[in-house]
Amino acid sequence: TPHRSSVIIVGAGISGLTAAKVLSENGVDDVVILEAADKIGGRIRKEEFGGVTVELGAGWIAGVGGKQSNPVWELALQSNLRTCYSDYSNARYNIYDHSGKIFPSGIAADSYKKAVDSAIQKLKSEEGNHHESTEDAETPATPKTPIELAIDFILHDFEMAEVEPISTYVDFGESEFLVADERGYEHLLYKMAESFLFTSEGKIMDSRLKLNTVVREVQHSRNGVLVSTEDGSLYEANYVILSVSIGVLQSDLISFSPPLPRWKMEAVRNLDVMVYTKIFLKFPYRFWSCEPEKEFFIYAHERRGYYTFWQHMENAYPGSNMLVVTLTNGESKRVEAQSDQDTLREAMEVLRNMFGPDIPDATDILVPRWWNNRFQRGSYSNYPIYANHQLVHDIKEPVGRIFFTGEHTSEKFSGYVHGGYLSGIDTTKALLEKMRRDDGRKNESQAFL
Ligand code: FAD
Repeated sequence: TPHRSSVIIVGAGISGLTAAKVLSENGVDDVVILEAADKIGGRIRKEEFGGVTVELGAGWIAGVGGKQSNPVWELALQSNLRTCYSDYSNARYNIYDHSGKIFPSGIAADSYKKAVDSAIQKLKSEEGNHHESTEDAETPATPKTPIELAIDFILHDFEMAEVEPISTYVDFGESEFLVADERGYEHLLYKMAESFLFTSEGKIMDSRLKLNTVVREVQHSRNGVLVSTEDGSLYEANYVILSVSIGVLQSDLISFSPPLPRWKMEAVRNLDVMVYTKIFLKFPYRFWSCEPEKEFFIYAHERRGYYTFWQHMENAYPGSNMLVVTLTNGESKRVEAQSDQDTLREAMEVLRNMFGPDIPDATDILVPRWWNNRFQRGSYSNYPIYANHQLVHDIKEPVGRIFFTGEHTSEKFSGYVHGGYLSGIDTTKALLEKMRRDDGRKNESQAFL
């Protein structure tokens, strides 16, 4: 016989856990949370590496210090999370060429300004096309030299705030804090979970949370939902909240019966998935500068995005002798497909170009694989800047008794932890309303009988 509850939540990342919390606060405790992985957190995930805790997924709390308070910053304060201030805008003044010379700051600043102007121009022309204007805008020059390519990469794959206002910074403030806590970013999730799940000694011991439970099918009708998992179990409920990533929705991991309507499938297909990979390298000793404003540095290579963006970990963990290099999209996928030894070799070659031949080899490497993780299939959603309002609407719109939540359903904060958190609240409010309406209808029809 199927396990029976009022609501099934699929996924125990920040959005799924927040949904469970809001349900509990509204008196709905009869829930079950089905999580495919062996722990909660989803894309908030730490690992012990080289003697410290590193964050494979979310690392920053972005958007702090503004008029409105970022709710994730509040959670971090409540749970006493250790963080450090972080500013990567200086990275543009630490750009190395392949012979280890740093580009003069004037040249770097000029190239940066050019890239921003060209991005603005491109946006305007896209906006023009979007509104079907006939005015033809000049096509901006495409970046060609290594420094142009490096800046183009940093601007488009990381920043864009100088080109287009980003809600996170406009609403919550422009500062960013790096989480540097041995308990991990996930500590704030455990703290949050304590308020509505049974825990003991920092462990969740609540039978409503089912780990290692992979949802494969969602059957739905006017009367309820029936969810089947990979281990052959069945879960029955009145409603289901799906918090799986956009990459998982695009994959064939979960099938729907009847299938999702065309408008929903199309929206899911049209949303881009970004892959973002932080590769950690451990060294026997430090050979890079720890002066202020040198935390981030850039390597200018003739291939766009080739081991471009670097950070040292001394501010977060002094003495850790660790570097992080970030790859995205095509480079992420390429590196995920090769052996870590090959990746280590490539990264060392780049580092020797920047710091000379005498630097020591890394003694260890950690390469997360978000793209090949079948419970993720990417790092976060990426709405085109001129995405029409309809796309977000269709992504989050429920289908009968199936509700959607997660970072990708957040209109203003998609791609961020706070986007996941706020979407968990929004979706659950919509569900609670629907529950009240359905209950009202049921009572009405009972009164009628
Ligand atoms: P998730 O955390 O993905 O939760 C969904 C859960 O569903 C997962 O636990 C998954 O295991 C589970 N699941 C999937 N399929 C199934 C299934 N079939 N059955 C059962 N369970 C299933 N954000 C920031 O704010 N700052 C950052 O610095 C930052 N950096 C990032 C760096 C990387 C490398 C990545 C990957 C993400 C980063 N993000 C960052 C984004 C942030 O991590 C996410 O937006 C947020 O954690 C998403 O939460 P979620 O609840 O929407 O999804």
